[in-house]
Amino acid sequence: MRPSLIVFIDCLPFSYLPERFLPELPGRASVRPGFGYSVNLVAELFAGMTPDELGFLNIFNYNPGNSWLRGWAPALRLLSPLRHAYYLDRAAHRALSRVAGYTGNIPFSYLGAFEPTGSYPFDPSFPHPTLLSSPGFRGTLVLHSRLRNVRPPGRDRVLVERALAAVRPGEGLFLSLPDLDSLVHSTGVGSPEFLARIEDYRAWLGELVAAFRQANPDGYVAVVSDHGAANVRGPYDMRVERHFGRPRPDRYMYFLDATLARFWVPDPGLRSEMAAHLAEERHGALVAEEERSEYGVTSRAFGDLIWVVDEGLGISPSFLGRGTGKGLHGYHPALPSQQAVFLSSEDLPRPSFRTTAVYGELRRAMRQAQVLR
Ligand SMILES: [Zn+2]
Repeated sequence: MRPSLIVFIDCLPFSYLPERFLPELPGRASVRPGFGYSVNLVAELFAGMTPDELGFLNIFNYNPGNSWLRGWAPALRLLSPLRHAYYLDRAAHRALSRVAGYTGNIPFSYLGAFEPTGSYPFDPSFPHPTLLSSPGFRGTLVLHSRLRNVRPPGRDRVLVERALAAVRPGEGLFLSLPDLDSLVHSTGVGSPEFLARIEDYRAWLGELVAAFRQANPDGYVAVVSDHGAANVRGPYDMRVERHFGRPRPDRYMYFLDATLARFWVPDPGLRSEMAAHLAEERHGALVAEEERSEYGVTSRAFGDLIWVVDEGLGISPSFLGRGTGKGLHGYHPALPSQQAVFLSSEDLPRPSFRTTAVYGELRRAMRQAQVLR
């Protein structure tokens, strides 16, 4: 493999890519994400694997027999009444997260049935082959997980400086820039802060690409993102229990992410009743079986029923928190706002890719010993 510079930007939407953004990379395509959050989509980009192949969708899976907190279930049930006292509930979740790991805003009575899941392809614990673990990719990984005591928004700049310092002839370089995502959540897409950060990337990455090409005239360069984003008009309270009654493992269980609602319903009668209700919901759509196959989310571990909220709404309260933020992603992957970015130092064979197909294209380009233009 030839030396390659791969830059990953979390949450760079194709629709906000300025014309003059890295004109030295002539290959430009939009990228249609899958369902779910970055943890899935980054694995789609760099390992080419769908959630079905990975075994996870988002950051919690339903696993009643095997949750990491199942032994705590009786104690957690005692904390359940706190759900009606928001600030006490938040404080108790925070305290528990400190000892047990991230518990989000998952109702205490539910915690014993769900387990945190998912790992990034750049984590040493990621169990599958990836672009970065391929034998030919020798190089440096510049990751925020290795930066202690540097917080957003200054973190991206520090990471770019580290990448600049790591440029060497004959060596690959992978840089992950995480902070645009949190900026989108807190200020929205297209906010002045968002636009300023894209201008920063334009300047910083221009400098990095120039340095890399000087050291590696035959090298390959790509910039990719995992999803776009849309601004939030308002919250949407699903009131699941008001419609379907109290959840119980033998009736139904559910999990609310900010944009997805997932239901596990062992009773076939109740399942078709719930499917009919969700199909009629005016603020979102039930993900059809054909779509579940298309996007590789057929596993029943992800839900017997998966419902996605309409663009511009945020499910609130969700099991991850109460606020929706100003920008969100994870809406239906076909929406123009959700499309991500693929820039390449070579022309790309088509104008749009699936996240899972970016992997193959990157591998092909990295293998080729073609001189950069
Ligand atoms: Zn995000």
